[in-house]
Amino acid sequence: MGPGPAVARRVAPAARTVNIRGPSVATMEHELQVEATLSGPAPPGDLLATRLPVLAAESIQRSIGPRGSGQLTRWSVEGDKLSLTVESDGARPHQAVLALLRRLGEELGKSAHIGVRSFRAPLYRVRFSLAPPPKKEIHLPIPHTLTVDGETATLELTELSEEALRDNWMDRAVTLVQEKSKRQSYEGKEQYWALLKASPPREHPFRLDPTEEMLKRLWVRSGPTKGKWFLGPTAAHLLRTMERIARREVLEPLGFSEVVQPHHDSFDILLKTGHLEGLPGEFYYVTEPRTRDPAAWETFTDLVKITRHVPEAELAKLVSPPSAVSCYAQCPTIYWWLSGRTLATDSLPVRVYDRSAVSNRYESGGRHGLERVDEFHRIEPVYVGTPEQLVALREQLLERYTHVFDKILELEWRTAWVTPFYMQQSGGVGVEEGQERIKGTIDFEAYLPYRGPRETSEWLEFQNLSIVGEKYTKAFTIRTQKGELWSGCSGIGLERWLTAFLAQKGLDPDAWPAAFRRHVGTLPADIRFL
Ligand code: ATP
Ligand code: ZN
Ligand code: MG
Repeated sequence: MGPGPAVARRVAPAARTVNIRGPSVATMEHELQVEATLSGPAPPGDLLATRLPVLAAESIQRSIGPRGSGQLTRWSVEGDKLSLTVESDGARPHQAVLALLRRLGEELGKSAHIGVRSFRAPLYRVRFSLAPPPKKEIHLPIPHTLTVDGETATLELTELSEEALRDNWMDRAVTLVQEKSKRQSYEGKEQYWALLKASPPREHPFRLDPTEEMLKRLWVRSGPTKGKWFLGPTAAHLLRTMERIARREVLEPLGFSEVVQPHHDSFDILLKTGHLEGLPGEFYYVTEPRTRDPAAWETFTDLVKITRHVPEAELAKLVSPPSAVSCYAQCPTIYWWLSGRTLATDSLPVRVYDRSAVSNRYESGGRHGLERVDEFHRIEPVYVGTPEQLVALREQLLERYTHVFDKILELEWRTAWVTPFYMQQSGGVGVEEGQERIKGTIDFEAYLPYRGPRETSEWLEFQNLSIVGEKYTKAFTIRTQKGELWSGCSGIGLERWLTAFLAQKGLDPDAWPAAFRRHVGTLPADIRFL
């Protein structure tokens, strides 16, 4: 073997430890200890001693700047191991430390042909305010200690990798702790709900559960898998009538065009919208076969032939871990479609809707009848435009919906401002402070007479309408030629429209409003089962 590179033959200087901060300086809010491995023993001479403090001061100045102050408080070197500690007040120090290590690597490379090979953080401690203080212990799934003193929390993360430092784990962990604490204070409290408008009360001679009645008439059959229904010709015709009404009376007059979107939502998309952290227990996950090779499936098929059972353990070996979810909400994939694009001013507001992806939700104990199912049909209009355009469009949508519910379906219904779905679906709580009457979600609810008196019974949310603001246009990098770009969506649940209508009007077409009957046309003849 030939001689190694020059750097490897350098004589390592004796271990050095330098404490920069005198005993008089009080401990700062944040402290980050880093241990870097150099590509060779640290250079002799005073290179580190002279350059490290300078580079640290410059990096701190650049990344913390006027947001706070910081200091390299300690460093030591032994062979190829360089340890340093940066403390700061105000802004957290990790960006400064990353910059410092980058610049140090550059300088050592030039002057001594040594690089910073890798680093890790044995300890990262930050102090932050936590109001309201948590009611009970908060857990994090990464090594840490959390202490709370009044409304001040101190979080220490230990053994952070280089990647975790670069990826901002500390900032995210702090946000998560604050979120968890806030959630504890909301727990058990009612969801935010403020009445917006109510239709006049109506007479309801029919007071039965429409699903029960449809079952009796064999219009529907509870499906072969959980929470799903088979709609026979009559029920299907009525569901499609609701869809036609929504398109003809609301969407087409307001200039919405149909899009057809894929049915699987990628994890990438749901990471951007926040769904994956908000609702992981409500998805149906999609798995793929590991292979289509029949030979790989032979044991499986043989076992099926012999046992007439599904060999679950064998199946588990043959499918991949989940890689997507079956459509939960339609708007995320519509945002993906627009992602990275710049919208021309004359295309605004973009108005599209999807009715092709069938929504799947794991409703668990909450299922009931046709109104709360695991698989439902929904039209989701999505709109993207300037704030003014979206506020105007909301008024137009409200006007058209009102027309449908008052004049065609003749429902008893009301609207209310509620916790925005995009906060709920990303694990948030409450309303958007100060914004709740511009941005936010309006729920549409229908009285279900079979559930009891209108004053005390639970009404059915049969659709909603939201203005989201910039959350999704930002997350998906959707831009306009100039100005702010907002988005929003509305969820028209067809099973909910149908049950709300049948619960109030009954199943006898003679009792249905004339305008609705016109949309229905001729009902298909019932199949007679003997
Ligand atoms: P709920 O609180 O009643 O479960 P949600 O807040 O989960 O409704 P969203 O996520 O806002 O509903 O979905 C928008 C619309 O989709 C709802 O207004 C409703 O029409 C429909 N929808 C949601 N979940 C279901 C379900 N399990 N079965 C039928 N329709 C549903
Ligand atoms: Zn949506
Ligand atoms: Mg729900």
